Amino acid sequence: MTAPADSVQDDTIAANLAAVRARIAAAARAAGRDPASVTLVAVSKTHGAEAVAAALAAGQTVFGENRVQEARAKFPALRAAHPELRLHLIGPLQTNKVREAMALADVIETLDRPKLAEAIAGERDRSGRCPDLLVQVNVGREPQKAGIDPGLAEAFVEDCRGRLGLPVRGLMCIPPVDEDPAPHFAWLAECARKLGLAELSMGMSGDFETAITHGATLVRLGSAIFGPRHAPAPFTLA
Ligand SMILES: *Cc1c(COP(=O)(O)O)cnc(C)c1O
Repeated sequence: MTAPADSVQDDTIAANLAAVRARIAAAARAAGRDPASVTLVAVSKTHGAEAVAAALAAGQTVFGENRVQEARAKFPALRAAHPELRLHLIGPLQTNKVREAMALADVIETLDRPKLAEAIAGERDRSGRCPDLLVQVNVGREPQKAGIDPGLAEAFVEDCRGRLGLPVRGLMCIPPVDEDPAPHFAWLAECARKLGLAELSMGMSGDFETAITHGATLVRLGSAIFGPRHAPAPFTLA
């Protein structure tokens, strides 16, 4: 008897998770860090609710989605069954989706412009709640990519935290694909240190060990866990 296709896939997801957890722990120890100081965000975009359920069954609780619409379709039912689940929004956010994004997400990693900060603050005032926020920095100054300009990042964070009273916990970046990510990770870590921010979301399937060496507290891994995406990634051209 052969196993049904979905249980084969479940086994693969569990094995992939075990492998990346081991690599995260090894990279943390090599950098003299506690492996528990690095949180794995499993990026489930383009993969169905059954893939998320398989990861939950393998002990994964933190997930990342880049589109509000897709998160809305997948997560409310999973959350009802798994109250421990935490959802991070990691894709560019339009101001007209702020209300829904804030209702769905535990963390929004992509605060990157004053207009969005104002919209989030307005919705916080209306609803009385606000997810934790990370400020996304466009470390490679790529015109097609989301994120605030590195030269404006410090003033923007100060304005969000001070005038708007937003819960900014850290910084996030996606370095240019064709460059060594290490200097970008180092820059982001230094910026967070200067600002007294604890969280650093950096590192994807191809570069998370380098990111951990430079202090990442959140690594966002998709393909290393779930395999190739089912559709072209509908996010900033990374
Ligand atoms: C898709 C995505 C990831 C995961 O990418 P992989 O290379 O599949 O690990 C990480 N961060 C963001 C912002 C993404 O959109």
